[in-house]
Amino acid sequence: MGSLNLYERFSRTFREHPSLSKFLVVFALSGGGVVAYSVANSENYDNVGNQKKKVVVLGTGWAGTSFLRNLKNPSYDVQVISPRNYFAFTPLLPSVTVGTVEARSVVEPIRNIVKKKKVDVDFCEAECYKIDAKKKKVYCRSTKNDKEEFVVDYDYLVVAMGARVNTFNTPGVEENCLYLKEVEDAQKIRRKVIDCFEKASLPNVSDDERKRMLQFVVVGGGPTGVEFAAELHDFVSEDLVKLYPTVKDFVKISLLEATNHILNMFDKRITVFAEEKFHRDGIDLKTGSMVVNVSDKEISTKEIKTGKISTIPYGMAVWSTGIATRPVVLDFMKEIGQANRRVLATDEWLRVEGTNDIYALGDCATINQRKVMEDISAIFEKADKDQSGTLTVKEFQDAVNDICDRYPQVQLYLKNKNMSSIVDLLKETKGDVVKEISVDEFKSALSQVDSQVKNFPATAQVAAQQGTYLADCFNRMDKCEKHPEGPIRFRESGRHRFRPFRYKHLGQFAPLGGEQTAAQLPGDWVSIGHSSQWLWYSVYASKQVSWRTRSLVVSDWMRRFIFGRDSSQI
Ligand code: FAD
Repeated sequence: MGSLNLYERFSRTFREHPSLSKFLVVFALSGGGVVAYSVANSENYDNVGNQKKKVVVLGTGWAGTSFLRNLKNPSYDVQVISPRNYFAFTPLLPSVTVGTVEARSVVEPIRNIVKKKKVDVDFCEAECYKIDAKKKKVYCRSTKNDKEEFVVDYDYLVVAMGARVNTFNTPGVEENCLYLKEVEDAQKIRRKVIDCFEKASLPNVSDDERKRMLQFVVVGGGPTGVEFAAELHDFVSEDLVKLYPTVKDFVKISLLEATNHILNMFDKRITVFAEEKFHRDGIDLKTGSMVVNVSDKEISTKEIKTGKISTIPYGMAVWSTGIATRPVVLDFMKEIGQANRRVLATDEWLRVEGTNDIYALGDCATINQRKVMEDISAIFEKADKDQSGTLTVKEFQDAVNDICDRYPQVQLYLKNKNMSSIVDLLKETKGDVVKEISVDEFKSALSQVDSQVKNFPATAQVAAQQGTYLADCFNRMDKCEKHPEGPIRFRESGRHRFRPFRYKHLGQFAPLGGEQTAAQLPGDWVSIGHSSQWLWYSVYASKQVSWRTRSLVVSDWMRRFIFGRDSSQI
């Protein structure tokens, strides 16, 4: 063990200072051996003497971290580049804004996560500002004050850079609103809330000004905006009213949403419950109201139905209306011929369309699911093994698994139509006795299945599952090259190396404050109330990336139960 550490220390020194290897060669030659040189570089070779492939991972969020945690094949040399040297458990950020959970409890240093791995992983705290797919290089800039630039080569590139906040180019948002995307954002919000209370408590402040300072506006009725509004309401009603009794009557929380309801992506029962609860709690819910301008003290909104403009004076505004593509990814999309798209497109194996050896996952990309109707003739030809021009039921059944594997929309369509197999789909077109089917009948039977193609939501669940999937592909790259396990290639010969990515939805939560949570679990099972809150606690505790953060989060929850939240403005 001791010698291994010594070896590791040497090799790390040499990797960090490549010029030292020259001295080692001279030293070794003069000492009568060249072995030392090969030892100095052995980290670049796998255990059968092949040069290790260099994998560059951009980002340490849900997608990048899940990829790194699951990568087990030591034949890669991994370089991670990210402006933040930690992983952040974003679902708990709304809790960080009011001190229900501390910021350090929801982050884990990326070096801690990768240190026990058998795979060589190096980390650089820097941001990538350009990807050159032709030269296989990424251009990076240190996030430190020197802003030093450097270039990194790759064999495989994993783009997991997430997304930025979408302001929809609304004037004044960037200058005047706070976001809730990163840990620093949550910390800023926490300071700002207390700042507003302290300023409003000063003796020379007028009541109008007090009212403005204690008007908190949340823009966006999605899960993040709703959860933040609920956390803020709990903080005010459980802790701050006792500490700031003179100003408590001036506090108002407003939630603005452009569509007619909040939590649109949830079951209707959850939306109704959440809206009613917010009304009961005194949270001012303004739906059908779009923000058109934000000045330093006022937010202007336009009522969608009437076009009427009104203004709301505010003390703090939090903007949480969704995500957009990062500029570096937009530039990359132009370079690879995806300029006409809004989001970077990959195929079902997470490979960026129009490139080789570049993968993209998480919020920065979307899977461009191939449509059945684009390939329908090729599918028919492949299935028609005897080239008779018609498909027998046997021929069809032989191809069914590959069709369903390659085009998941087929299975979704069957499920929605309560059909047990694809043969039922043919029966629908041809009647009960199906013996043979022509190309036109085949087309007509499958003509509606593409209506089931949907984009995956931009969630941690999707990003993490994609990271795990891609790591699994990398772990078995050589094996699957020799023995492909994916579906038949309908347009070419052979099989795909891997099965395409499949997303498994495990359900979603919407914490609504007052120890009540709405849970929508697979099979449209809905549960709302205190029992779901306990489910939420246990799921989020179990999903922590380390025992360290798990124990910190649980102890923060207990601290909050016993002592309340801390309102110091540090
Ligand atoms: P991120 O997690 O955003 O990671 C992106 C990474 O890329 C970061 O490390 C970043 O520093 C790095 N990066 C950025 N720019 C560069 C660059 N130029 N070069 C290199 N690296 C770069 N989802 C759920 O499923 N459930 C929830 O309850 C939930 N709650 C949420 C609450 C909040 C407040 C927020 C903001 C999001 C929430 N989400 C939730 C969504 C979830 O966090 C995202 O979908 C998820 O983070 C996406 O993962 P990602 O890896 O693609 O991006």
